[in-house]
Amino acid sequence: MVGSRPSPPDDACVLCGGAQRARYDLGSHRLLYCSRCQLGQLSPLPTDAELAALYASPAYFSGGDAVGYADYVADAPQHARSFRARLERLLRHGPIGDLLEIGCGPGLFLAEARRLGVTRVVGVDPNPWAVEQACARGVEAHVGSVETLDPSRRFDAVVMLDVLEHVVAPLPFFAAVRARLQPDGRLLVMTPNIRSLLARLSGRRWVSLKTPEHVRYYSPRSIRALLDVTGFDVLAIHAAGQYVTVAFFLARLERLVPRSARVLRRIVDALALGGRVVFLTNGSIDVVARPVTSAVDSARTRR
Ligand SMILES: [Zn+2]
Repeated sequence: MVGSRPSPPDDACVLCGGAQRARYDLGSHRLLYCSRCQLGQLSPLPTDAELAALYASPAYFSGGDAVGYADYVADAPQHARSFRARLERLLRHGPIGDLLEIGCGPGLFLAEARRLGVTRVVGVDPNPWAVEQACARGVEAHVGSVETLDPSRRFDAVVMLDVLEHVVAPLPFFAAVRARLQPDGRLLVMTPNIRSLLARLSGRRWVSLKTPEHVRYYSPRSIRALLDVTGFDVLAIHAAGQYVTVAFFLARLERLVPRSARVLRRIVDALALGGRVVFLTNGSIDVVARPVTSAVDSARTRR
């Protein structure tokens, strides 16, 4: 149910109907987990109004690490490099003329896509500041969501990076995404993996556990289940990574092992290595999928 509040704690899993059990007490919220399909869910779920207020705030892209992004723009060169690697992965499955990014933020991915030869790039994002930034980069961007975009528009590719974990109602959302894709189009999704080594080692200190903005947590199994019921075929699932500065990595490490991280920081500071850029797996997955189009598969999507 869209934006409903709250699901009973032992409510059935939205994806497979299995029983959800509490995994972590997060203070104001709990993380529920369905062991049948490996979907995690925040409880209670935030309302649409609460989420809308959070994403509309100018602080969302610079408001510290607890909510949103620590300083998205300062980290722009690393984000751009990560985006380039991700887009190259999508382009391996064929050329792309036009592309829609859901949750485009300040437009860094779209700008990279255009540099790599995608002729028409369009972004939507609920944050007006971010959309203004994206437009200033010369890309077409609109305040809103996939549901508010002109319904006649179709794209060769739809991309959503760190978006799916924010979606309260994934089934209608993916139906809307599918309606935006050309029949031979492709979908690229990056989202935290609740079964990743990082997630399991970090427990309740996992960096991707962000309350209340992250409402659902996927694994390769649960995202396959979601794509299956919404009419997509999975082409590839990879462990995702990103380029980060050593200073960024140390700030993250400090949450898990504060003492060791502080020792490391002294060494890094002494050698002036904080600005050095490294590539790390980030506990997320990259998923490439395409809409299923045969009659049999269409019947499946109507279930
Ligand atoms: Zn389930």
